[in-house]
Amino acid sequence: MFDVVAKGFRDVRNRFEGKREITEENIDDALKDIRMAMLEADVNFRIAKKFIKQVKEKAIGEVVKVKAKANEKVEVTPGDHFVKICHDELEGLLGPVDTSIVFSNPRLGPTKIMMVGLQGSGKTTTTGKLAKYLMEREGKRPLLVGADVYRPAAIEQLRQLAERIDVPVHAREGADPVEVCKEALKIAEDKDRDIILFDTAGRLAVDDVLMEELEQIIDTTKPENIFLVADAMIGQDAVNTAKEFNDRLEVDGFIMTKLDGDARGGAALSIKEVTGKPIKFIGVGEKLDDLEEFRPEGLANRILG
Ligand code: GDP
Repeated sequence: MFDVVAKGFRDVRNRFEGKREITEENIDDALKDIRMAMLEADVNFRIAKKFIKQVKEKAIGEVVKVKAKANEKVEVTPGDHFVKICHDELEGLLGPVDTSIVFSNPRLGPTKIMMVGLQGSGKTTTTGKLAKYLMEREGKRPLLVGADVYRPAAIEQLRQLAERIDVPVHAREGADPVEVCKEALKIAEDKDRDIILFDTAGRLAVDDVLMEELEQIIDTTKPENIFLVADAMIGQDAVNTAKEFNDRLEVDGFIMTKLDGDARGGAALSIKEVTGKPIKFIGVGEKLDDLEEFRPEGLANRILG
């Protein structure tokens, strides 16, 4: 889907071909291309509209500047110049960058990170990836907690991931997930672990029972970080899900998975805008190393092609 947006910007560049400057007329045509490309890439229509308005204001300002400098040599083509304006605005909308994780005062016990999200979003995989990241970047000693007691393979999958990075897991098949999470607080202390990652249950859609369970886990464990894992491939639905989770649980940030392949970049932009919460990390593959800190310029570059 990045391709669709990138194609949109290629068309935009073409629109300016042979033109010496950005004019009000060619801006309107170019903006129509961009609006279409954004909608096709699953950007929420209100956000696309806001983006177009901002770009238009900036670009019209540039028309004035270009006129004022009419005698100077043109350094960049109007197409590139216009794409640069779009690029800067897109980066602005995707930022500001906040990839921080809140760490607890070690004297008060381990840091807690709660991973939430729909089933299949990549929660369990991302829990393993994040644990590895925290070990390598922060020198942390994680404990993974299998609180997804409903999906039969989830705990086994978590155990396999943990084995690969050599970290312990606390899980009890069929047990009460709130109890399992509570036990983990004590186990982390016993095993000298300074960070706990809770892999919670997902559903195919958001429902009250799930939300109540997650709220109970929050009340019991008081996590410093609640990260929603959202699948970029499901486009507009990821945005609705993110809003529902955030309205109910007040998440601290998002991890957007499956931004490799033909994932839809529009969802990341929309989630950021609709919830006002930062995108912390992105998942770019199935392997444990395929986790990156979110960088707006990276995504904007990719979108612009
Ligand atoms: P959960 O149900 O939310 O715990 O989801 P899983 O962690 O089991 O992931 C569901 C599927 O998505 C698995 O096949 C993962 O390998 C895959 N997956 C997770 N993250 C990514 C990612 O960033 N890129 C790709 N391509 N696949 C991913």
